[in-house]
Amino acid sequence: MTGEFDLIRQYFHFPQGRGVVLGPGDDCALLCPQPGWQLALTSDVLVQGVHFPEEAEPAAVGHKALAVNLSDLAAQGAEPLWVTLGLTLPEADAAWLAGFADGFRTLLARQGASLVGGDTTRGPLAIAITALGQVPVGEALLRSGARAGDLICISGHIGDAGLALMALQGRVSLPPADWQALAPRLHRPEPRVALGRALRGVATACIDVSDGLLADLGHLLQASGVGAELRLGAMPFSPPVQRWLASGGDPMTLLGAGDDYELLFTLPAAARARLPELAAAGGVPLAVIGEVAAAAGIRLFTAEGEAVRVEPAGYDHFGTD
Ligand SMILES: [Mg+2]
Repeated sequence: MTGEFDLIRQYFHFPQGRGVVLGPGDDCALLCPQPGWQLALTSDVLVQGVHFPEEAEPAAVGHKALAVNLSDLAAQGAEPLWVTLGLTLPEADAAWLAGFADGFRTLLARQGASLVGGDTTRGPLAIAITALGQVPVGEALLRSGARAGDLICISGHIGDAGLALMALQGRVSLPPADWQALAPRLHRPEPRVALGRALRGVATACIDVSDGLLADLGHLLQASGVGAELRLGAMPFSPPVQRWLASGGDPMTLLGAGDDYELLFTLPAAARARLPELAAAGGVPLAVIGEVAAAAGIRLFTAEGEAVRVEPAGYDHFGTD
């Protein structure tokens, strides 16, 4: 057993980056954030069969397990620094480990972050990640700062991952080219770290879209004590999603679907002119999809101005329905 797990550790022997005084190998890692910065910390546990299917490509699992944590750091305007990895494995499957480590390492290196510790144990496949980032004192983006009159903005496209998941589950049928375009959006989401950094000092509130646009907007609005008016016609849907909608697909399904890992944020109306500059800094297009309102709740309107019924519900692991 010891030999087996020493073998596992070999796959995760990565170079150490900034702020690491002492990396893995001792009882603890020693880490030092930049003076004048606060630490942001987030944790996620992914379980095979619940968060990713058994047949999922190991490199994609390694990428996504890290990406969902880095996305939370991005939503707070924090820059990723350090990550710990807890792996529960039924066996030391060399091919799976090599693939997983490769997907994990590639994204980690691209973000300039270090793996500074972790643990391995035997059991059903599960991945526990804790990610730490830093943000200048007082500049973290919170969910609670949205004010009536603010613009509601979203990065990238919305609903890509949701439609890809429906295709994977056999609930919809997509042209092969559209599936090819959408699958990476489900399996390899890109955490919007550069955008989160650019939004510091500009956005009034921010959250990443993990549970679904309406559910996550609901979280932001609740924390801010406000409501929202959204325009369905302003939603940034990708060409494959537009084709699916044109063939009779229901856009409400996609606004309720999770896994896009885009940033949903609010901006003072006076900052509208800064959107192109923020999009360039974030390396992703930005769209204004509505405005913050004083009255609680989400009101959604079609291009014709008709109100659409909204039931904000996201993925709830302990939900009864
Ligand atoms: Mg989040």
